[in-house]
Amino acid sequence: MILRYKPLKLEQLEILKCRAVVAADEVNELGNLKLGWEGEGELDRMIDERMAGRNCIHLKDYRFSVSQTGNDSRKVSRSTSEVQIDNIFIAGDLVFTFEVKKYNFDLVYSDTVWTFTGGDKFKNLMQQVSRHNDAFRYLLRQSGNGADFEVYSCLVFINPKQTIYNLPYGKNILTYSGIEKFLDRIVRDNHYSHDRLLDFLESRRLTKSMYDGKANIELDALAGGVYCEHCYRELERVNRNKYNCVKCNENFDLLTVTRRLINELKMLNEDWKLDSSIIAKYSGHQISSSYIRRQKQRGNIDY
Ligand SMILES: [Zn+2]
Repeated sequence: MILRYKPLKLEQLEILKCRAVVAADEVNELGNLKLGWEGEGELDRMIDERMAGRNCIHLKDYRFSVSQTGNDSRKVSRSTSEVQIDNIFIAGDLVFTFEVKKYNFDLVYSDTVWTFTGGDKFKNLMQQVSRHNDAFRYLLRQSGNGADFEVYSCLVFINPKQTIYNLPYGKNILTYSGIEKFLDRIVRDNHYSHDRLLDFLESRRLTKSMYDGKANIELDALAGGVYCEHCYRELERVNRNKYNCVKCNENFDLLTVTRRLINELKMLNEDWKLDSSIIAKYSGHQISSSYIRRQKQRGNIDY
């Protein structure tokens, strides 16, 4: 089973929240990203549970680039953008995509712009789904398999507490109560090999998103300390070589903690020039620069 990677922006905001003052709109964004991340994990579990032992394919966070050709009277311009599909699921030789939304508010369905229950405008949620569907089918046609794949794209609302009002029957929209029934219906073995298609998709997969950026902060503005990589709580030192997260009830050795610190710095800004004293300072001087240099000499860490 391939794990889903936490979005870079979510990691950056979680790290900044521990180590710097974060603006209110960023706290808000962090909350939304966290919910979205949770929702994706919940759908993954539902799918993975059902496809266990079956010949199905589940691709997570599939990102690819699309070029858009704009045409006006004077010039032809071409720009590139990217599409990210939360889930591609191939079962019973059919191709499905799932766009997962975890919102903690109710919505009113519309053919165009959905609204909040108070009447304020939200978004045209189906537009994103149909745009992704178009782009993905276009990509599949380039796979040269000769096959013309139908792609069934669903919008999935995964929060059981959320209500969608005025939802018409027969739209490709799943609310919590319908997700499991839908999956039970579609999870079937593939009878044909889709290896060539998978090879093609992997060859077109973008590993890095053009929307991933550097955190807007100076290295000096970050408070030092050592935090849990799962829940971002400050770790407690148990002894010379061991840290503990009381919330996750997990121990981390010194080398793991050091690797995480370097990883955090790289996620915040891959251009920062790191050295042992910067990393020691970032640890809140809990890890000495001589230890860091020694581990680097031994090839245990890299920065
Ligand atoms: Zn933890």
